[in-house]
Amino acid sequence: MPECYARSCKLSARPGQLTISCAVPVSAAWPLQMVETDGGIRAVDWVWCDAASGRAGAMVPLPADTQSVRGRGIEVIIAANWKMNPPLADAAALAVAYAADSFDGVTRILFPPAPYLVQMGVRLDGTDMLVGGQDCHHNASGAHTGDVAAGMLADCGARVVLLGHSERRADHGEDDALVATKAAAALSAGLDVMICVGETLDQREAGSAEAVVTVQLEGSVPAGIDASRLMLAYEPVWAIGTGKVAGVEEIAAMHAAIQRWLAKRDLASVPILYGGSVKPGNADAIFGVPDVGGALVGGASLKAEDFNGICSAGARAAAARS
Ligand code: PEP
Repeated sequence: MPECYARSCKLSARPGQLTISCAVPVSAAWPLQMVETDGGIRAVDWVWCDAASGRAGAMVPLPADTQSVRGRGIEVIIAANWKMNPPLADAAALAVAYAADSFDGVTRILFPPAPYLVQMGVRLDGTDMLVGGQDCHHNASGAHTGDVAAGMLADCGARVVLLGHSERRADHGEDDALVATKAAAALSAGLDVMICVGETLDQREAGSAEAVVTVQLEGSVPAGIDASRLMLAYEPVWAIGTGKVAGVEEIAAMHAAIQRWLAKRDLASVPILYGGSVKPGNADAIFGVPDVGGALVGGASLKAEDFNGICSAGARAAAARS
């Protein structure tokens, strides 16, 4: 294995990530001491190799890319939230399938489980799909067993972090104030943030959906945030993973309300993604709703065909808007 590295591999570095392209397929990880990059000799711990693509990557801290995810003139953002899925072998195959396609006018973001970040980043390197973290701690370091700091995500190639997902709010009791502190930590580490808001079914039936979401926005979005670093995801809790998608009128009304809230804070350019059982069959209708800037996709992102179908709808929407 080291012979293969010595003879046939070419290194290239880009902010946040080091890539090694191998001329021969390799299938395992092996330890390296030092590698040479444009930035000089650097120590690395492990290099991942990918038998399918013949590519490899190393976990090595490089200067964070300070360009916003949205600094690329992108129309529609489609994010895949894998949650605590799938097994690594399936994840690798899925990333290879994602990498095979690209969609005009669409920026794709993958939120894999944290242990997969480097490997997924390597597989998606050179594509239009970025990787991000599903959560981060609000401190930069310290005695927080099981947690991951925003800077660690950035060192592993993440460009953005998902915060305030309803599953974290429910499973870990995360409140708006904590989400705002996490967002501040992520921004300090050079990451963009995607903050999730959304009402429960009881709250919608009680007629308080808009009020609930407004409170979440007030509490979760750090004051004075740079609009180019923020994305929002409106995800009605009752539509996540349930197969129940909000109606286009409900989506339109909530997105318009969020847009008004943003406009009052000089954040009008912030994209608002919709999330909750988005599928290829409903994506065109959802992307046709004014103020919908993309989608946050859970279940359907675990099937490449479904995710690609949603991205194709995103490309149609981007073409229609341009
Ligand atoms: C999500 O996880 O944010 C989500 C929207 O999941 P699903 O698409 O499965 O409803």
